[in-house]
Order: sequence, then C-alpha cells, then structure tokens
Amino acid sequence: MKKIPFILANWKLNGNLLLIKQTLIRLNKERNFLKKLKIAIAPPIIYLSEAQKYIYDNKNIYLAAQNVDAHISGPFTGEISAYMLQEFGIKYVIIGHAERRQFHYEDYKVITKKFLILKQYNLIPVLCIGELYKDYANKEIRNICIKQINPILDVLGIESFKRTIIAYEPIWAIGTGKTPSPEYIQNAHLCIRSYLSQYDDSIAKNVVLQYGGSVNANNVLKILLQSDVDGILLGKSSIHLNEFLSILRIVSNFL
Ligand code: PEP
Repeated sequence: MKKIPFILANWKLNGNLLLIKQTLIRLNKERNFLKKLKIAIAPPIIYLSEAQKYIYDNKNIYLAAQNVDAHISGPFTGEISAYMLQEFGIKYVIIGHAERRQFHYEDYKVITKKFLILKQYNLIPVLCIGELYKDYANKEIRNICIKQINPILDVLGIESFKRTIIAYEPIWAIGTGKTPSPEYIQNAHLCIRSYLSQYDDSIAKNVVLQYGGSVNANNVLKILLQSDVDGILLGKSSIHLNEFLSILRIVSNFL
C-alpha cells in the first residue's frame, strides 16, 4: 500500500511574515480536507517561531528547516543548530540540497555530519540527491544517486535510513520548469529503493522517497501516482499560496 503522501514546501529565500501566517491559517482551515496528506512548510528560519504559533495538534501539518549547521554550538557565525531546531518543535530538516552543494560548497563530508547530528537530535533528515543534465543524458542516474547515498551508508550504516526521507531532485529540473517523465522518476526511485534494499529490505520499503523539481498543479498527480513516489518536494509552486493550495487539493481529492 502507498504511504500517506508527504508534501514538503521549500520556500528557499522567499516569503514574508504575512505569507507564513496566511499559509498556516489557510492550511488549518482546510485541515479536515487535507488530513489525508502529510504537509511540512520550510520557510526561511527567521519565520519558524512565528509559524509555530499556528501549529496545533494537527498531526499532519509540520514545520521544517531548510538547513542546519554540522556543529551543535560554538564560533559558527550565522548558523543554527539541531538543538535549536528541536527546541522550536521542528520535525524535518532539508540537507544536501543542490543549491547548498553549489552555492555553499557543501560536500559529502559536511552533509554526512549534518545527517548524523540530525539523527542525534531526533530530527528527520530530508536528504536531497540528484544528477546534472549531462548525467541524466548519459543515463548515470543510478551511479550518481548511489554516490550521494554511499558516504552516509558507509559512515552511519543502513539503520540511519530509518525515519529518513530521500528527495530525488534532478538538478536540471530544479526551478527550470522541466521535469523528467513520470516513468523516469519512477525508475529513479526504484533504483534508490532497490539499492537500499540490498542492505535492509524493511528499511528500504519504509524510507520515504520524495520527488522534487518543477512540480506544479499540472504534473503533480502523474508523478505522485508512480508506485515508488511517496511524496513531493515543492519549491517555486509552494510560495504562491493559491497554487500551493490547489496542488494540495488535487492530491487530496484523488485519495
Ligand atoms: C527545490 O528546490 O527543492 C525545488 C523542488 O524547486 P522547484 O519546485 O522550484 O523546482
């Protein structure tokens, strides 16, 4: 049976105080209708404490962070720790996003450290992985995904993938309006799951596999209907409230 679809909204460096309030008020209003979904909002960190005021005992609406530091305290100007996120009731934390790999030079060592620290603080990592267009064209998806999962597997073992989300985000699809076909996405997810199942079948079955990269109201269902797609990571279409809500309604309506 398919898992409850998990939709995560990554606002990146967008939004404002009004948008976070309006988004959570609207989600709360529609929560009965949306209860078949698991939804998390990852606004810029400064809005999390305001957002928290609108998170009740909903059970299906959560807050997420877009980043965490690899240290827990100390001289790391500008950073936020896993402890601080936990203190504010944050449940999910995105790590390894292509933009952090590219613009903040985060490599596999830093990402592995972040993964470990999230586990230590009982936060759920949303580990982003994905290939460049040239690797897509060369059908290198399996190798690239394995290469991005392996550092964590090697250091922390398969057990660390319990209560973990992997977001498959082809780098060339992020923010471009281009997406691979639903069949291609299914195949990529199956590759990731089968790879993990060589280590532990039950962990592989339970790991939540999200797809991210130019998902919108027109393509969300076709993607989510693929058997190994357990959720969606939304960027651009999550910062336009009406578009975001229509995506949630489309998925909810279908279930
Ligand atoms: C993302 O950056 O995680 C993402 C999914 O972005 P977009 O939906 O804008 O492609």
